[in-house]
Amino acid sequence: MTDYIYSIEANNVNKTFKRKNNDVKALNDFKIKIKKGSIHGLLGPNGAGKSTFINILGSLVRKDTGNIKICGVDIDKNLKLAKFKIGIVPQELNIDPFFTPLELLELQAGLYGIPKKNRKTEEILDNVGLIDKKNAYARTLSGGMRRRLLVAKALVHNPQMLILDEPTAGVDVELRSSLWKYIKKINRQGTSICLTTHYLQEAEELCENITIINEGKIIKDDSKENLLNFISTKKVSFDLLNTFEIPNNLFQFNPIINNQKLHLTYDKSKISINNIIKILDESNITFSEMNTYESNLEDVFKKLIINDGNN
Ligand code: ADP
Repeated sequence: MTDYIYSIEANNVNKTFKRKNNDVKALNDFKIKIKKGSIHGLLGPNGAGKSTFINILGSLVRKDTGNIKICGVDIDKNLKLAKFKIGIVPQELNIDPFFTPLELLELQAGLYGIPKKNRKTEEILDNVGLIDKKNAYARTLSGGMRRRLLVAKALVHNPQMLILDEPTAGVDVELRSSLWKYIKKINRQGTSICLTTHYLQEAEELCENITIINEGKIIKDDSKENLLNFISTKKVSFDLLNTFEIPNNLFQFNPIINNQKLHLTYDKSKISINNIIKILDESNITFSEMNTYESNLEDVFKKLIINDGNN
């Protein structure tokens, strides 16, 4: 058995789609390392190249150049084995409506050449919470159940790496949190996970490491903690007890007064909240309550992609 550190290791991957008028470079010297056992997020705006990379992993698209190893297996050297290492859950709920979950999984196991005695169809259906529905036509399943069925389908050959393309796109809030729980459970059971998502909150909730891509290139690749610390500006608001003219020494914090609240923005690497309170004190500004807001992935994303793109 191959031992490996990274579930996915890609180096200098390039892919250009030829078009009549203009070619599109979907991946541009793209590289990524996804640690074995982790949940890794792939974030980027539309057209960034996420699906192209996933489609290359699933051998639906051929790369032009570069190297990719899936769980230590080079896809150019042993594609068949590499395919066994990975399960991909597509974004679209493309399930034949006249198949039952049991039939669908059995069919998939057959495609992978798994002998009947080695199949774990019922166990997998139980794991994804669909055992009660094993004989129901797929068309009668809810959107959430179909998505879980697709996850089950991707798990049939017991892959070590599971890729989820926008796992909760168009899914309601309640179902989203149950899918998150399920993704974490699969990961705890030893499957490495990579997911693409539009919901930054989803990446924040699930992923230990995050790669942000734009125009086929890596913009940032780091742990979630480091990414969140990347933005050192913090916001604070005070519920005011008195009225006053904004003193000069507060202007550096972009003060805004709204509904008896004073909002300030500050750089936590330069000044502490205690020092800000001191300034308010010295200016005889009194308040009943204070709330601070940490930056989130949305702020990081905006800073890296939207703001920089406009400069
Ligand atoms: P993402 O998944 O991040 O939204 P994609 O990988 O789908 O991005 O797309 C990256 C770029 O490649 C886009 O400009 C897209 O239009 C282009 N592209 C993707 N697939 C094809 C294709 N089959 N033919 C031509 N262009 C494509």
